[in-house]
Amino acid sequence: MAKQQSAPPISCAIFDLDGTLFLGKKVLPGAIECLETLRGAGVKTLFLTNAGTRSRQGVADKLTSMGFKAQADEVYCGSYILARFLMEKHAGKTVFPVGEAGLSEELRRNGIKVDESGKDSGIVAVCLDRTLTYEKLGKAHVLLRKGALFLATNKDHIFPTESGTMPGAGAIVAALEFSSERTPYVVGKPNPMAFDLMREEHGLKSGETLMVGDRLDTDVAFARNCGMKSALVLSGNSKREDIGDLLPDYVLDSVAQLSAKLGLKKKA
Ligand SMILES: [Mg+2]
Repeated sequence: MAKQQSAPPISCAIFDLDGTLFLGKKVLPGAIECLETLRGAGVKTLFLTNAGTRSRQGVADKLTSMGFKAQADEVYCGSYILARFLMEKHAGKTVFPVGEAGLSEELRRNGIKVDESGKDSGIVAVCLDRTLTYEKLGKAHVLLRKGALFLATNKDHIFPTESGTMPGAGAIVAALEFSSERTPYVVGKPNPMAFDLMREEHGLKSGETLMVGDRLDTDVAFARNCGMKSALVLSGNSKREDIGDLLPDYVLDSVAQLSAKLGLKKKA
């Protein structure tokens, strides 16, 4: 009699941040314990956020200050994904950033030329920018009309905070798309590019990897695009009634339920 095939074990879990592990400055209940249980059971944990407001190190520092254990090389954020894309495809070109200090910091750290004057940059790179001015928007608009390459970390229309939603990077991208009549190339989730970087740097196997996130259109779609399993948590953006054709493998109220769902127990 043929042996019944059991599902392959999870060797890595990739966690989205906003709406999954925390909301604004508030850590979601059970999030720290969830990561510790998974690690205790030998599951590698990585962090993946479309947010490009901080550098890799900046995200690791924020997670550490909140009580998570995180190293910079475990963090994949919009600014780093963008930097790696530029290094591989557009080395030597100058970038005009529409973003916060963390974006420029990560780009410079990876050897990319950044010019905030907006004079002759051949690339406009956009992420969430809470320091956005009309002047900055105008400089990006002029460069795009002149034919600059249009890149964005993500098109998330909103992002969740502890006091409700705020306009996301996609709202800024939309203003530039509308005014320049150009369409950006988006490097963040659901683009599988981040998984290629993770595979290269951490040797992941898609069939043994679980993506955990709060958005169907980015996190669950990313998992599908990369051939990995997905867990949707209902603690952030997507609601149970939003689930349509894109079915997550697990639907959980929050990450607090994850280790039990995977049958993992914290080592005594
Ligand atoms: Mg999220």
